Amino acid sequence: MIMKVSVILTSYNKPDFIDRVLKSMMEQTYQQWELLIMDDGSEPETMKKIEPFLADERIQLYPHSVPPAKRLVTVRYATLINEALTRITGELICYLTDDTLYHNDRLQKMVDVFRSKPYIDIVYSSQRVVHVDKHLVETMTFVREAEQILEHASFQVDHCSVMHRRRLLPFVYEKFEQYWDDEPKHWHHADAVFWMRLNQFAAFYPLKDVLDTTYKTPSSFHHMFSSMPYDVIDGTVIEKEGAYFQLAREKLYSINRRWINEKHGRAIRVPLLCVMKYEVKGALPVPNYTVVTADNGRTFYYIEDQKKRRFYSKRDVQYFQFHQKEIYRISDDLLQAFDDGKIIQASPEFSPPNRRLFKWKQDIYLFVHHTFCRIALEVVKLFAFYHQPIKLYPAQFALFQEGKPIVPLYMESLHEFNMSLYQLSGRKHSL
Ligand code: UDP
Ligand code: MG
Repeated sequence: MIMKVSVILTSYNKPDFIDRVLKSMMEQTYQQWELLIMDDGSEPETMKKIEPFLADERIQLYPHSVPPAKRLVTVRYATLINEALTRITGELICYLTDDTLYHNDRLQKMVDVFRSKPYIDIVYSSQRVVHVDKHLVETMTFVREAEQILEHASFQVDHCSVMHRRRLLPFVYEKFEQYWDDEPKHWHHADAVFWMRLNQFAAFYPLKDVLDTTYKTPSSFHHMFSSMPYDVIDGTVIEKEGAYFQLAREKLYSINRRWINEKHGRAIRVPLLCVMKYEVKGALPVPNYTVVTADNGRTFYYIEDQKKRRFYSKRDVQYFQFHQKEIYRISDDLLQAFDDGKIIQASPEFSPPNRRLFKWKQDIYLFVHHTFCRIALEVVKLFAFYHQPIKLYPAQFALFQEGKPIVPLYMESLHEFNMSLYQLSGRKHSL
């Protein structure tokens, strides 16, 4: 019995890898396959590498041209896969990215399982993961083991380590009105979302052999997104094509370069995708969350929500961990243009500034819009908060409500899927 395998490869500007990926297909010991190359508008350098392989009639190229704004609207690879799934002709399906190599017996070993075990609908295998630096030199490697039959494969099995029967597709479509979920919040783990859908109808059967090797490069989304929360933290300053913007109440405002203290690294780099949902409004004369003085350091103010909050004393500036080099001198006219906000002080009344880190029990909290939001350490690092968290006393913590925790996207999704962390066995990424 011949079983045809449809392999869906998504490709976007990986000229250093794509020919090796395609070669890994050509070298498969199992011959009955078709390969759909879903290219997402790569530069000519990548297209040139693809071209020689098109002579093989099993390979079809579907080129896409994507305007920049559109590129950020959906999870591109999921959108491309959904299109490919309407074009395939095989009865078995697997997925490939342009930085992953299938080992020679990848298709053969998986097809053998489907042949001998008609009751199995999904197979997955062990995978070698290789981290490389920008010169493609290996920096770290490990094997993601396939050991158990998985009822919850999300976040445990990679995009490229699965093969499933086509017959599952109509069930997924009927239940979810779509195959892969390409909502942008899933950029980092749309495979995990699709596995969850497949898992409604079948379990993932393990093949212990390592059947693919995937490479993680510094430019990959994997690195850029791994610590991003879904919402960018209020007050974040980003650089976009040489200009600076600050997020204030869900809108972006341009700000002058003078507020960017190079030494202090105020502007951070976030994937464009994460800020494109925010509309660009006007400009801010002084960015929020800036400490200013108009009288050479006799009085200090904190600009918050475009109001000025006076520090009760210089000691309060220190108490809340503001450093000398973060204090800006401005003119009195500029200062007076801001309405007054609540005075900032540590005691007798505890009235803290927003966007400062606090420590309560074992956790770090960010004070945002007058609520304490627990914040994951990796997010603290990504958003470049440099000051020491300020220790809270019980009475201080009790003064304000707790807000939504600020955690990386993948944790939010776990929550959404109602999955507990122990199911992860220490791994957080699957793409
Ligand atoms: N991809 C795409 N369009 C894009 C960006 C990425 O089709 O605009 C595809 C890419 O070719 C790859 C997959 O999405 O097959 C995952 O991208 P990448 O390898 O950069 O992400 P990572 O593995 O680092 O999470
Ligand atoms: Mg990748």
